[in-house]
Amino acid sequence: MTEQTKTLAVVTLGCKVNQYDTDSVVTQFLDAGYSVVDFDEAADVYLINTCTVTNLGDRKSRQMIRRAHKKNPNAKVVVMGCLAQTTPDDVAALEGVTLIVGTNGRTGIVREIEELETGEQKSLVEDIFEISDFEDIPSLDFSGRTRATLKIQDGCDQFCTYCRVPFARGPSRSRPLSSVLEQAEQIVALGYKEIVLTGIHLGLYGADLNPPLTLAEVSEQVANTKGLLRLRVSSVDPHEITDELIELVATHPVLCRHMHIPLQSGSDAVLRRMRRNYTSAQFRTIVDKLRRRIPKIAITTDIMVGFPGETEEHFLETMNLTRDVAFSKIHVFQYSKRAGTKAASFPDQIPSNEKEDRSRRLIHLGEALAERFHSSFIGQNVDVLVEQVQEDQAIGHTDNYVKVVFPVPATVDLIGRVVPVRVVKADTTGVLGDFNAEGVTPSVK
Ligand code: SF4
Repeated sequence: MTEQTKTLAVVTLGCKVNQYDTDSVVTQFLDAGYSVVDFDEAADVYLINTCTVTNLGDRKSRQMIRRAHKKNPNAKVVVMGCLAQTTPDDVAALEGVTLIVGTNGRTGIVREIEELETGEQKSLVEDIFEISDFEDIPSLDFSGRTRATLKIQDGCDQFCTYCRVPFARGPSRSRPLSSVLEQAEQIVALGYKEIVLTGIHLGLYGADLNPPLTLAEVSEQVANTKGLLRLRVSSVDPHEITDELIELVATHPVLCRHMHIPLQSGSDAVLRRMRRNYTSAQFRTIVDKLRRRIPKIAITTDIMVGFPGETEEHFLETMNLTRDVAFSKIHVFQYSKRAGTKAASFPDQIPSNEKEDRSRRLIHLGEALAERFHSSFIGQNVDVLVEQVQEDQAIGHTDNYVKVVFPVPATVDLIGRVVPVRVVKADTTGVLGDFNAEGVTPSVK
């Protein structure tokens, strides 16, 4: 009789870095012979990678822990990530939690969980401010089929006054170049066509290495990986976008014409109190440079509304800057008080109805700008990396991050291929196109 495979059910809350961390732990479970099942199934082990960026992240993380225990009270539950790192005692108090792991010390999770019985509990959470090296865990199991995230940096030294991440992730540390390149080669060998370089504070990449490196340097080396079609750089603060990086995006055929630059606020008074290290004028200058050098670049952003003391005038400054910069996508989020941060004790906290209202207005503007950006491609040919085919529709993205949907015959297998598509229609979410493999020549960047 063959031994039954042990099962693992996984859920990840939060950002791309968390997704990478999950993927790397899942890789270890797969190596140990586990098979991955849906989170709603009764599994032997549940892995919940938590987030603590907002109150909502905390709440959802706790909900998923409870859901896992309810689904199978005999299962072992591993809780890792930012919530586990910042409030391990609260996590330990939740029923059914077996192993608590922070944002480091994740290499021996499988062994640790197998040594524990259901009902026992252990914590592997370390003092994150004592960690100085990048924890180098390769990931070979990624959530998508065409695009893989490659984490090259962890931690942050900036301590923006609203943010709990430095307490959860510790000081900035970078993955050594040789390890980055080795992982990039493995990703391409597995058949992935696009890599997204990611980190908690990516612009700090390499400052702690000896000899130091820059984000532009590591990006160029990764982009040169044989067989890689696209490289996307996930998020860079405006004051860390160097001329070298702009030049690389402008000239290297593998680099995507896409920059995610967190704005947070268009008001200098608010940016100062957030401790964001740049002004609205510097933000505008960097965007002008990018647009001049890289036509059709997609510039996406994160904006926070309702920071303590944000007046209607401050908010209107954000609206104006947003309109002028014409972001192609905006992630709007409402400020929420995070324990341990400076801003939690700031006066003039904004009532939630005011935050709701500002959020709604900004989202509305963001949608109009997205539609305008997408409409500018109507009638043009774009190159689409196909990520999914559902029935007779293919879905993918352009290098400048426009989502493209187009009809294809069900018999054609396009996943993982870059194909030319003529854009015929646009809306807030992306564009619709026509695919004609014979009649259309791929456009050149
Ligand atoms: S740069 Fe600011 S917002 Fe980003 S992780 Fe660091 S402290 Fe948080």
